[in-house]
Amino acid sequence: MKETIYTIPVNEAFETPCECPLCRLETRFENDRVNYYLGPSLMEPENRVETNETGFCAKHFRLMYETRANRLGLGLMIHTHMCEQNKKFEKAAGAKEGGDTKKSFLRSVKSGSASKSADALLRYIDGRQDSCCICRDLVKTMDRYCEVITHMYFTDKEFREHFDGGLGFCMPHLAMLIRASQKYLSGAKQEAFTENLIKMQIENMKRIEDEVEWFTKKFDYRNRDADWGNSRDAVPRSIEKLTGLTGLTETDKG
Ligand SMILES: [Zn+2]
Ligand SMILES: [Zn+2]
Repeated sequence: MKETIYTIPVNEAFETPCECPLCRLETRFENDRVNYYLGPSLMEPENRVETNETGFCAKHFRLMYETRANRLGLGLMIHTHMCEQNKKFEKAAGAKEGGDTKKSFLRSVKSGSASKSADALLRYIDGRQDSCCICRDLVKTMDRYCEVITHMYFTDKEFREHFDGGLGFCMPHLAMLIRASQKYLSGAKQEAFTENLIKMQIENMKRIEDEVEWFTKKFDYRNRDADWGNSRDAVPRSIEKLTGLTGLTETDKG
């Protein structure tokens, strides 16, 4: 496949087994985007238009904040974003310049949630929560990665060995792969891919269940001297497996 921009990260993510190679891909993409938005993007007017309009979700604001890489840049970006959003907020709240907010929104809130101005304001607030420059690109990029995975599974023997020899996926990314198989594969290929995927997942969910169990049994004084086996970090790995939450273990950092 010629699109190395996607195939290289996919191959790298599957090279060494981890609880979810898709989480690894996602983390890598998020970190790249965080560095981009805190770096060269700040100087490009058209990207500032984008960040002013769209902003970031809680998770990605947090990632940007925690890098502590460019605190001035982040502050400037937030300031112009807020200038724009505050105008929209005031408009959605029905507070025109020099006007009386009480007459529009506050009064309608008292009279019940069906009022038009309450709806408009809630629509604006709800829309803000879903609005994020990084999430928007992440959805597209993960879809592209999934397409590449379903393609390489049948065209690249080495990749397929890595895929089948892996430790399965977190549950949200398992669902993503099943959906991708419905979208990008059909007939016998779709069947083979899904069957192998589910089998592998069942095996690995059972494995991690046993690892967590052994973790709990290690607290029994009779097992004090027994080998931890693979269970020392079974709790964070099982949380990641169940929810897709990354960053709890060192092993899953991309
Ligand atoms: Zn995952
Ligand atoms: Zn986001």
